[in-house]
Amino acid sequence: MESDTTATVHPSLLQLHFDTSVDGQYVLDPSADVFVKVNPSMCELLGYTREQLVEARRPVATSSIIHEDDRTLVEAHRKAAQEPGDSGITRFRVVRPDGEVRHLEVRFTLIRYMGRIVQVGSARDVSDQVKLEVKLRNESEFNRELTLAAQQSAKDAQRKSLEVLEANTRVGALSEVLRAIPVLTKRLLELEDLDSVYKETALTMVNDAQFSSCVVLLRDDEGRLEVKYANPFRSTTSVQVKETEHIKRVLSGGEDLVVDEDGVHYAGIGAGGVMRGLLQVGLPKNLQRFYAGHKPIQQSIRDLVSTIADFIGVVISDHENLERIKQQSRMDKLTGLYNRRVFEEQLSIEFRRALRYERDLSLLIMDIDDFKHVNDTWGHQQGDLVLEVVGNLLAGSFRDLDTVCRYGGEEVCVILPETVGEAARVKADQIRRKIAETDIPMPNEGDKLMRITMSVGVACLSKGTTSEEQLLREADRALYWVKKNGKNQVKLADA
Ligand code: GH3
Ligand code: MG
Ligand code: MG
Repeated sequence: MESDTTATVHPSLLQLHFDTSVDGQYVLDPSADVFVKVNPSMCELLGYTREQLVEARRPVATSSIIHEDDRTLVEAHRKAAQEPGDSGITRFRVVRPDGEVRHLEVRFTLIRYMGRIVQVGSARDVSDQVKLEVKLRNESEFNRELTLAAQQSAKDAQRKSLEVLEANTRVGALSEVLRAIPVLTKRLLELEDLDSVYKETALTMVNDAQFSSCVVLLRDDEGRLEVKYANPFRSTTSVQVKETEHIKRVLSGGEDLVVDEDGVHYAGIGAGGVMRGLLQVGLPKNLQRFYAGHKPIQQSIRDLVSTIADFIGVVISDHENLERIKQQSRMDKLTGLYNRRVFEEQLSIEFRRALRYERDLSLLIMDIDDFKHVNDTWGHQQGDLVLEVVGNLLAGSFRDLDTVCRYGGEEVCVILPETVGEAARVKADQIRRKIAETDIPMPNEGDKLMRITMSVGVACLSKGTTSEEQLLREADRALYWVKKNGKNQVKLADA
């Protein structure tokens, strides 16, 4: 519902909001191609003084500020909106007198003003966002999936940001609060970890946006409501962890936002389609009295709190998506083991660590015997099933400290830190035996089962080892020896 806030807000407050808004605010006469009114932020955005834009005998023509390539676009937008009440959102570039090009996002409405039809609007610098989008587009093919996810969350975040700005314009009298919010949402997107996001939100809502308290409450792994960050500074509101009636109403998903008799707002935080917790925000007593009876302003504060809660939800799912993609990019799908990239990274880390601190380090290369024969006789699908079974078995056979990776087709490498060659050989032999005794189902052959064997080459760090490639070569040579001497054995490379 669009509410008419201008009817309830004193004109001097609107003027204050106009003058202090962090967004560029303007009134423009499209037929004369000049500004009628601009606020300081607008002058800062465009790089002109108010004198040059409005007060001069011949003010700067607004169309001359627009980047040459975008003029047709802006002209088309102006033509499309002719009647009072028509509105639009557009993005275009402006060229400042110093030659700097900035990307603006402008939202405007036409109104009748002193016999003329004028455009009232607000403008925002989106250059950083545009730069980010261009950067994301240019990412390499390897990162395509990551990029798409990031773009999606950037879009979501941008949409949320716009919603904040919309709420912003609806509460002219709350300029202190409103000024803090776009800055907050922008900052939240730049933070690396979620705990900082909760902290930043709670601090900004109280210290900058002048709410009396702000608490981020989220369910932990057991489903209990946990305080992630509380800022009760200047407040007597107690930190909630028990699920009160108000909280239950929000967490059940029944209501997006509930306000209790003390003016405390509870807004649900949802991410990935699941209600994760809530944002609890207290309103100072004096403001509660000031806004009593002012329905549109109360509504705007509710919108604002909900939007911040939604925004935290977007940031949470954004982080989780990136984490999941990062994890997926480390795993081999078929075997569930780490992939070769992780092997190379981890070997390099462990190798350097072992050298520096003079610790033991062993390496296994395991290769399924006559695997080509499995494929040729029973089909590729059966071959895949063998890899899956072997992968599962290996994943559960080593210590957490060890790294088990699919190196290539039917080869698995295992990094064993803090392990001498002989111990690695014994361990490998236990596993070799276990694999040889494992029945592997054959889904296309009824109740039939099959068995396979593996050959293993072992190498360990010695005084003469100078590189991780050398260690790998030694293990490979030992494996080659086993393949030449009957397979289904373990061979420790000569030191
Ligand atoms: P050896 O005992 O000497 O190791 O002989 P081998 O047959 O195991 O070795 P070879 O290198 O000749 O063949 C490996 C085969 O593994 C060839 C390749 O088609 C198959 N392979 C590689 N990756 C996969 C996979 O993901 N699934 C299936 N089913 N087969 C694979
Ligand atoms: Mg093989
Ligand atoms: Mg092989």
